[in-house]
Amino acid sequence: MLKLESLTIAQGDFALSADFEVTAGQRMAVIGPSGAGKSTLLSVIAGFFAPVGGRVLWQGQDMTGTAPGKRPIAMLFQDANLFPHLSVTQNVGLGLRPDLRLSAEQKQAVTDALDRVGLDGFGARKPAALSGGQQSRVALARILVMNRPLLLLDEPFAALGPALKAEMLDLVAALLDETGATLMMVSHDPEDARRIAPHTVLVADGVAHAPQPTGPLLDNPPPSLRAYLG
Ligand code: ADP
Ligand code: MG
Repeated sequence: MLKLESLTIAQGDFALSADFEVTAGQRMAVIGPSGAGKSTLLSVIAGFFAPVGGRVLWQGQDMTGTAPGKRPIAMLFQDANLFPHLSVTQNVGLGLRPDLRLSAEQKQAVTDALDRVGLDGFGARKPAALSGGQQSRVALARILVMNRPLLLLDEPFAALGPALKAEMLDLVAALLDETGATLMMVSHDPEDARRIAPHTVLVADGVAHAPQPTGPLLDNPPPSLRAYLG
């Protein structure tokens, strides 16, 4: 279980609070207006940004002060997920060992993950030699090899066309089916939420609200969300 306990976050004039629990294995979309604090919330959970108050707990353990790499978390950022000077294979391998001294088994895991995201044979390329969609898939392959119980995805597939995006979302869902991992995925597209996230965290007006069923929320949005959905 992920618990955000009386969490308060501040960044200049910006403030956000969160106080809710998420059951392990739950799949959540994170939705709200631009600038509402969706990325900031994920950064705090992942440990890249410290809250002003409150705690982040995983399975009852306080991880508020834990370094990002020591948390049970794999995160995809809005952009710049890949190192341009490293090959595709190396970029994925970083998910297993930052020094890239991979065992034969780990190398095989990298190959399998690339296969899984449809990038068989692309391992030697640098990110610049890939399309935007292929780059997203490399980042997803790294998440696959990391095999962490909590996935935080920040608009991971916004650069992709609708068909490819749907394919990537289905791949994420299949991964979650296998591993039982918990998902928090920021998206500006309500259809993404309907596709893979039974629950949604609404971030608006300085509050990250407790997860609520996605369908009813989107069918009958509160004013803060209605204005944003248009
Ligand atoms: P979202 O992801 O929902 O669009 P963000 O989490 O990126 O929103 O940003 C939330 C708020 O935090 C923004 O409205 C902005 O005021 C503030 N903010 C974001 N990044 C910074 C920064 N580097 N320095 C100061 N304030 C920031
Ligand atoms: Mg954002």
